[in-house]
Amino acid sequence: MGLPLKHLFDLPDGMIYLDGNSLGPLPSATPTRIEKTLRSEWGAHLITGWNVDGWMAAPTKVGDRVGRLIGAEPGTTVLGDTLSIKVHQALSAALTLRPDRRVILSDTGNFPSDLYMAQGLIQTLNRGHDLRTVAPERVEDAITPEVAAVLLTHVDYRTGRRHDIARLTQAAHAAGAVMIWDLAHSAGAIPVDFAASHAEFAVGCTYKYLNAGPGAPAFISVRPDVVGRIDPALSGWLGHEAPFAFDPDYRPGFGIERMRVGTPPILQIAALEAALDIWDRVDMAELDAARVALSEQFIAEVEARCPDLTLASPRDPAARGSQVAFRFAEGYAAMQALIDRRVIGDFRAPDIMRFGITPLYLDADDIVAAVDVLEDVLVNRLWDRPEYLTRKAVT
Ligand SMILES: *Cc1c(COP(=O)(O)O)cnc(C)c1O
Repeated sequence: MGLPLKHLFDLPDGMIYLDGNSLGPLPSATPTRIEKTLRSEWGAHLITGWNVDGWMAAPTKVGDRVGRLIGAEPGTTVLGDTLSIKVHQALSAALTLRPDRRVILSDTGNFPSDLYMAQGLIQTLNRGHDLRTVAPERVEDAITPEVAAVLLTHVDYRTGRRHDIARLTQAAHAAGAVMIWDLAHSAGAIPVDFAASHAEFAVGCTYKYLNAGPGAPAFISVRPDVVGRIDPALSGWLGHEAPFAFDPDYRPGFGIERMRVGTPPILQIAALEAALDIWDRVDMAELDAARVALSEQFIAEVEARCPDLTLASPRDPAARGSQVAFRFAEGYAAMQALIDRRVIGDFRAPDIMRFGITPLYLDADDIVAAVDVLEDVLVNRLWDRPEYLTRKAVT
């Protein structure tokens, strides 16, 4: 089972792509959409494209289309920059909302860039903030009254383990802390109801499950009653109340507009729009049912045929995101051997083989075919060759 949308993607012949959690594949409509923006908008209209082609409004207009996929209310999501930048924006705003508190709480499973951005912000502020990281299962107990902000990635990038958004947001609020959810591995992967969670901030990227292409913009959503109280740390001109007044003094723009920084990436937003045309046809509950069916099938096939691999993801599908991870001591080499045989997953140190299960363009036949190759690689030790054992720069 998958969704009947595979024909909307340009997947190379003979390749089984299990890495949509890192970089989604190319939708067939994207090149034409970008070509249109290049020739009929930029080429034909030049600078006037900012008005006549709606480029200036694109970050909020297209932002709302992304917002719908994470349950954000219209008018509360904006696109721009990269996810690391959006983490900085959300966290710096959260800290100013809690000026008397000094602790940022995160977990040891968080994606390093989120932790690095927190460390850099602490240095810049130089006001004695402390980044505290605890094991994912200990987060709830660690939300104490000195915590200013809880910064968590919903779905663990390695194991796919999923936090409970509603419960942890409630715990953060009960302790008076601000809640920031990183939805990098959730947007387009599993149903999320950001508005219902009442969390202050959500951030995420569009090049993973949303399929907007390498370098596509990130997004930030802010709870509507909070955004008016934010003094943006990255106070760029397009987040100004009146960018074209060229006032020498910064005044934050209205609502979510203030989370904009500089010139939006129009070509990348065009690619995102083409990808979102597919998402407009997707019912998230149906997507989730297909995710569960394909993931359960994948786990069952791997465990039956590849006894050297150990499941690293939670066994309960409701406790996982849309990826399945297995541990194997020679996981790096085994993944290289798989990739050479056109089954594309990826590897995360120290020993995780990661497989993105994306029902938009995968079906039950793909799962069986992928495990056929995996079984061959493991049973016949095809990974045990010098060219597979040497690590490349991007794993
Ligand atoms: C993918 C990912 C990032 C990447 O950030 P960029 O700035 O877009 O490179 C950051 N955080 C998390 C949790 C991610 O999964």
